Amino acid sequence: STDLDIIIIGAGPIGIACALECKKQNLNYQVIEKGALTNSLFNYPLNMTFFSTSEKLEIDNIPFISNNPKPNRNEALEYYRRVATSNQLNINLYEKVVSIKKHNDDFQVVSDQQHYKANKVIIATGFYDIPNYLNVPGEDLPKVFHYYKEAHPFTLQNIAVVGASNSAVDAALEIYRKSGNVTMIVRKEAIGERVKYWVRPDILNRIEESSITAYFNSEIKEIKLNEIIIETPEGEKILPNDYVIALTGYRPNFKFLADAGIEFSKDEKHIPNYNSETMESNVKGLYLAGVICGGMETHKWFIENSRIHAKIIANHIKNNLNK
Ligand code: FAD
Repeated sequence: STDLDIIIIGAGPIGIACALECKKQNLNYQVIEKGALTNSLFNYPLNMTFFSTSEKLEIDNIPFISNNPKPNRNEALEYYRRVATSNQLNINLYEKVVSIKKHNDDFQVVSDQQHYKANKVIIATGFYDIPNYLNVPGEDLPKVFHYYKEAHPFTLQNIAVVGASNSAVDAALEIYRKSGNVTMIVRKEAIGERVKYWVRPDILNRIEESSITAYFNSEIKEIKLNEIIIETPEGEKILPNDYVIALTGYRPNFKFLADAGIEFSKDEKHIPNYNSETMESNVKGLYLAGVICGGMETHKWFIENSRIHAKIIANHIKNNLNK
């Protein structure tokens, strides 16, 4: 097994920020990432535009230069890739951490490839790996997606987009503009409040003019091969359907955290227990960084407001190493 000061789990923007800070503090660290570098961003829709301006996505004040008012996915991939490579950060890709166990004052971290021993562990695993499922019959059909990449496959098809937040709205508009017949199925009474302010009038107008059909206060009850059954305020309806794109949000891997000994708030928010001054969890030496800190409140933390976790954690670790 390999002996380290720190293991950082996840090479998202915040895991990378943590690695930079550990490097500056001359700590012996290793990042372990189960997918590609910035795997969540890699899996975003190809034409996705951030709601943040590029300076707010910067880590360690390294300039993020973009020619757009808001950067897009490809620019963000380029930025974080260059930050990671030009600083020669220690990152293992395509290696998944399966367990973290405290053993005396150290941690035994087991991946699908190696065993490690580390004095501290930082979990920066985000929330993008587990979708919030609809839990309806037919959800396991191959025509149902919980991630959306691009519109082309949906041209001239009947598409149901489930949800009304940024991801759902972006997908609905893009598919409509590539000649897909889009119906939005929205559980609440309106389009989400956090929809990007410059996108909002576009979706409202498309619904108003009936270019996109929207059923509000409605839910999918069942998905069949060529149709869906939805429950609306006017009763049940059967719609012809080729594909369902369910963009109903994602959630952290709570089991992974619980197995490491982390406790949660008892309410439906399920917020992991950590000290906001140090980011140390209820397990001494085990830290949480980035969007994972919000539990089910996945809108609470984003890159903009969680990048500071990296400095807080590295400073605390520097003063508490092997203690
Ligand atoms: P992630 O980027 O999710 O990184 C976590 C990493 O951990 C992943 O690469 C994952 O593969 C890895 N991992 C998970 N489990 C394991 C394991 N067991 N072993 C090893 N590795 C593991 N934020 C903004 O500030 N501005 C925006 O404009 C913005 N737009 C967004 C648009 C979309 C569509 C989405 C979904 C999110 C957006 N966010 C935005 C939020 C932003 O994506 C997240 O804030 C950011 O990705 C979080 O960074 P992170 O490093 O905390 O987590």
